[in-house]
Order: sequence, then C-alpha cells, then structure tokens
Amino acid sequence: MIIDGKKTAAELREELKKKVAELKSTHNAVPGLTVILVGEDPASKIYVKNKEKFAKEVGLNSEVIRYPADLEEKVLLNKINELNKNDNVSGILVQLPLPKHIDKRKVIETIDHGKDVDGFHPMNVGNLSSGYDSSIPCTPLGCSILLKKAEKNLSGKHAVIIGRSNLNGKPMTQLLLKENCTVTITHSKTKDLKAECLRGDIIIAAVGIPKLVKGDWVKKGAIVIDVGINKTDTGIVGDVDFDQVSKVAKAITPVPGGVGPMTIACLLNNTIECFKRANS
Ligand code: NAP
Repeated sequence: MIIDGKKTAAELREELKKKVAELKSTHNAVPGLTVILVGEDPASKIYVKNKEKFAKEVGLNSEVIRYPADLEEKVLLNKINELNKNDNVSGILVQLPLPKHIDKRKVIETIDHGKDVDGFHPMNVGNLSSGYDSSIPCTPLGCSILLKKAEKNLSGKHAVIIGRSNLNGKPMTQLLLKENCTVTITHSKTKDLKAECLRGDIIIAAVGIPKLVKGDWVKKGAIVIDVGINKTDTGIVGDVDFDQVSKVAKAITPVPGGVGPMTIACLLNNTIECFKRANS
C-alpha cells in the first residue's frame, strides 16, 4: 500500500473548509493565520507561498508579513507581541530557519502559546509530553494521520523513530506513546541502526540522509513513514530507499507526495484548534 499524502491532505482540507464555515456561522468570525517570513531563503519562500494559498482555500483569514534578512530582532519581537494582542489573529507562525543574528528560542518563546500553531513553545511541548491538549507540531501530526490510514489500531506496535529533533523525532515519540506503541528513538550515536530498524513494526525516518533506510533494514509487513526531503542530482528523495523498501513494507509513504503535503494541512488544522480554544 502506498499511503497517498496528497489525497489525504486534500481530504483534510475539505473537512477544515467545512469547520471554518461552521465557525463563521456560530462565531461570526473566522480563524486568522499570520505567517512571518524573514529573509529570502528560497525553500522558505515556497513554503510560505503554499501556506498562504491553502489557508485561503479553506477560508482562513491569512496574512503574510515579509521582512528583509537584516531585520533587527527587537522589531520582530515587537511585531509578535502586537500580534499576540490582536484578537483577529488565532495563529502565529515564524518561518524557520531565521537569520543567524536572530535568537530562534527567544522568538518561539515570545509567541503566545495559545497562538503557537507550530507547537514549538515550551508550554506546548510540555503539554504534549504530559498528555494534555496542546498544539502538536505539524509534521508529526501529519505522520500520525498517515499511519492511521495504514493501521487503525497502533496499540502494542513497536515503533522505531530515526532522528530526535524537536521538530520531528521527539514530538513523534509522544504521539506514538499516546497510541500505546512501544517506542525506540534512534539518532546519530545509535550503535546498530539497521538492527534497531529491523525490530520495528513501524519506522518513522526523519534524518535528512537520502535513501538511508534500505530494503534489508525493514521487517516484512512493517509500515514506513518517510519524513525526509533531500535534494539530490536526480531530484527530491526521502530518507528511505523507496524502490527497495516498498517491496518489503506493508505500507509506505512516497517522497514527494507523502508527509510533505500533510504538514501544511495540519498547520491549518492547528490554526482552527487555536481559534476554538481561544473562543471556548
Ligand atoms: P535535524 O534537526 O537535522 O535532525 C536529524 C536527526 O537525525 C538528528 O536527531 C540526528 O541525530 C539524526 N541523525 C543524523 N544522522 C544520523 C544517522 N546516520 N543515523 C541515525 N540518526 C541520524 O532534521 P529534521 O529537521 O528533523 O528533518 C529531518 C528530515 O525531515 C530532513 O530531510 C528535512 O528536510 C525533513 N523534513 C520534512 C518535513 C515535511 O514536511 N515532510 C518537515 C520537516 C523536516 P543527532 O540528534 O544525534 O544529531
């Protein structure tokens, strides 16, 4: 089974469109998403453009604020504080990476945690690990929706996560624990990655190394979710060798067309959830 992220994301956006229409009739207001882009990073510019396009598609109020790369940190922090106080703004996203002279941590912690649609604020990180309601980082949230397409009941499954970043590996761990999986989290110092992977009923690869996971690293019938987006001479590839692994796995996400499209759909979902929490 190839898990179709493009189709699943389109279905999710349709659901979100209906939710926004409902909120409009019950609250006489729609959720608002403000994205801040600092600098000219080409990949970030494409991501932000797509975020704006899909936010409009589902009916959110969408605003993009663009700043030059030499923006003073305090100007950015002041803008975030202003947006924190604006009731028309339900969600704030500062596109990463930021230029080196801007302190990423300070920026994340300045965003009101109730408007933190990325789920990076320490309050949301803590809430997620404590099992409380919180914004969940968009990519892991997308991964868990795709996983459920392949297997409804994940309880008791052994999940192996490759990568321990705050963006992917760590929040993914919390989501899988919530589903009663047994979770192994691996990283660059893991001794025998192949042996660890072979134990997985589920493998989540979030590493950034093209085609790292080979066919003989995967147990027959495993579900494989490939988070990687790696530019190579032959195009964009994931962290999983798709041709090899698709012959062994029960289900697998392709790259492109797997996790990628889900990330933006989950961002829109998080914006709506922030609006609902703020208005409940
Ligand atoms: P990251 O912050 O660079 O983290 C990479 C992780 O992989 C680290 O924990 C690192 O271990 C581990 N690692 C590196 N080499 C390894 C090896 N040889 N064996 C095992 N583990 C190894 O990356 P990230 O931000 O999580 O992103 C990972 C990938 O996902 C990238 O390709 C990125 O482009 C992609 N991505 C995709 C989406 C999407 O929407 N689909 C969103 C975000 C990111 P240490 O902790 O020990 O250094």
